[in-house]
Amino acid sequence: MRLINFYNNFISEIEKENRNIIYQYNAHGLVYLSIIEKGYKEKNGIKIYNAFKNEIFGLDYFLDRIVRFIYSAANGQDTFKRILILIGPPGSSKSSIVSILKVLLEEYTKNHEIYAPKDCPNRCNPLFLLPRNLKEELKYKYGVNYLESFYLPCPVCQKTLRENPWEEIELVPIQFSRLGNIGISTYAPGDPNSTDDSVLIGNFSIAKLSIYKNDSDPRVWNYTGALQSGNRGIVEFVEIMKSKTEHLNILLTASQDKMIVLKNFGAYNIDTFLISHTNIPEYQNFIQRSDTEAFRDRLFVIKIPYNLSYTSEIKIIKKLVKEINHMDPLVYKVSAYFSILTRIIKSYKKEDLEKIIQIFDEENENINNNSDSADIESIKKEYYEDFKVGMSGISPRTIANILSELSSFDEVSCIDVLKKIYDNFIKFNQNKNVEYNECYSMTEKFLENEITKTVIDALLGYDEIDKEIDLLFRKYYDHLGAYVNKTELKDPVTGKKIDIDETFLSSIDKHLKIVSDYEHRKNVYFRLLSLTSSLLLQNQTLSLKKHLPEFYNALKEYMFKEKIKLFAPSLNFDIPISDESKNIIRMIIDNMKKIGFSEKTAKVVLKYMNDNIIKFS
Ligand SMILES: [Zn+2]
Repeated sequence: MRLINFYNNFISEIEKENRNIIYQYNAHGLVYLSIIEKGYKEKNGIKIYNAFKNEIFGLDYFLDRIVRFIYSAANGQDTFKRILILIGPPGSSKSSIVSILKVLLEEYTKNHEIYAPKDCPNRCNPLFLLPRNLKEELKYKYGVNYLESFYLPCPVCQKTLRENPWEEIELVPIQFSRLGNIGISTYAPGDPNSTDDSVLIGNFSIAKLSIYKNDSDPRVWNYTGALQSGNRGIVEFVEIMKSKTEHLNILLTASQDKMIVLKNFGAYNIDTFLISHTNIPEYQNFIQRSDTEAFRDRLFVIKIPYNLSYTSEIKIIKKLVKEINHMDPLVYKVSAYFSILTRIIKSYKKEDLEKIIQIFDEENENINNNSDSADIESIKKEYYEDFKVGMSGISPRTIANILSELSSFDEVSCIDVLKKIYDNFIKFNQNKNVEYNECYSMTEKFLENEITKTVIDALLGYDEIDKEIDLLFRKYYDHLGAYVNKTELKDPVTGKKIDIDETFLSSIDKHLKIVSDYEHRKNVYFRLLSLTSSLLLQNQTLSLKKHLPEFYNALKEYMFKEKIKLFAPSLNFDIPISDESKNIIRMIIDNMKKIGFSEKTAKVVLKYMNDNIIKFS
C-alpha cells in the first residue's frame, strides 16, 4: 500500500467514526485495543477484563487502573509521555501482567492489518512520514491527539522521503513478535560499569558499512536497541531502578519527548509504551538518588499488591502448584488462609483479622448483609490507595513451592501443610517473628473449624445439617419462651407436660457466649420474638444462616459436640473398636471421599481430630 492510500483510508475511517484506526497508530492504543477486544464486564464501578481472566486473580481494581492509564495515554493525554511503573512485593503478579500485555499485543497484530514503511528497520509510524501540514490537520481537525506536527520518522525513512515523493512511499503490514523482538522488547540494565548505550539505541555496524560504503548513510546503523525493537509496541524495563545515569537520560528523552538521539544521524521520534516493575525498597532507593530528580515525575506509579481475597488465593495457588500426588481439599484452604493472614497482620488489629478476610473475600456475600457497608468501603479504600497495605507477607509462589515439594513424595493432607508451615515459618523464627506466630495459631484454629465442619457434614450427609439445626432452633425457642414467660411446655405430639431442658439451654448460652440468668435470657428471647414477628409482617421466612448467623453457628457447634460424643472413641485407630463404630467411620470416610479426600488423607484428618480437637473441647 502506498502512503497516500493509507492516509486517505485513515481519514475516511475517522469520518466513519471508527476511532479504532486512531488507536491502531499509537503504541498505547494498540495495547488498549488488544485488551478490550477480549471483552469486559462491569461490577461495583470497575471494569473486569476477560483478557486477564484465568491468569490474574483478585486484582481487578488494580488491573482496571492499568487499563485506565493505557486508555488515557492512547487518547494523547499527558500519561502518553510517562513510564508506567508497577510497584509491589515479590510474586504479586507484576511481571505476569506485563507478559499478558505482550501476548495480547502480539495476538492483536496477527489478527489486524497494521502498517509500517517497507524497508524501515524501526517500523516507523506511517503518520510520522506525512507532511507537516497533514499531521497538523490530523491532530486538530480529526482528533489524533497524540500526533505532533514536528514528529520525525527514523533516519532511514528520512532518506527515503528525501529521495521520493511522500505519496509514493510503500507500506507493508507488520506483525509483532516477542521472540523476534519485533514491536515487543525487553531492556535489562546489565553491567553497571559499562556506559554502552547500544542496548537501548543500537550501534554503528562495520559489516553494514562494507555494504553501503558510506558512513553517513543511515542504513549503516544497527537499529537493534530495545527502544527501536519495541517501537510501535511495548518496551519492558527489567530493573529500571538499577539503570545508570546515562541510560536514564536516554529513557527520559524516550518517554518525555518520544525521541531517540543518534550521534551520527540526529534525533527522531518513536512511538512506544514504556513499562517497568519493581518493589518498594528499590523504588524508594531510586527516588532518593540525586541523578533521578528529573525522572521522578515522569513515572506513573500503579500499586500491584498481594491479592487479599481468600477465594482468589486458592485459585492462584492451584494454578501454581504441580500436583503430583493427591491433595485433600483442605490443603488449598489452609494454605490460602495462612498466606492472606501474613499479608494483613501488619495493617490491621489482631481482633479484626477474621473480619478483614471476609471483607476481601470476593465470594463472601454474608459480610454485606451483616456489616456496616461504609466501614467495608473505607477498609477496601485503604487497600486500594495506601501503599503499605497488602505489600508484605508470604507470596503465593512460596506457598506453591511448599505444596509442590510435599506432593512429590506422597499424598498430601492439610495436616502435612500445617506442619510444614510450622517448620518453615515458625520453628526457627520464634522470637524473630511474633506476627507469623499469631498467623500460625489463627490458621490452626481455622483448620480445626474446617475439619470439624467437614466431619460433621460427612457424618450427617450434606442436606441434613440445616434441617437438624432448624429443629434444634425450634426446641431452643420453645424452651426459652417457657423459661422466660414461666409457662408450661407440652409435647406437640402427645400433649404431655415436659420439663424445661435446663442443661440444653445453658449449653446453648455457652456457645452464644451469654450469661445463663433470667435477664440475659429474656433479652435474647425478646430479640428473637421481635425478629420473627417483623419477618412475619414482611411475609418472609426465618433463615438462621442469613438472619441469625451467630445462633446458626452456636447450634451447629452444640449439635456437633453431641454427635461427636457418640463416635469419638472410634476415631482412635489404635484401639480395637466395635462393629457399629466401624460402620460409622466407614460412612464418614466414604462421604469425605465424595468431596475429594482419599482414604489416606481422610484418616489423617480424623486422627488429627481425635488427638487434637475432641480432647480439648
Ligand atoms: Zn523509519
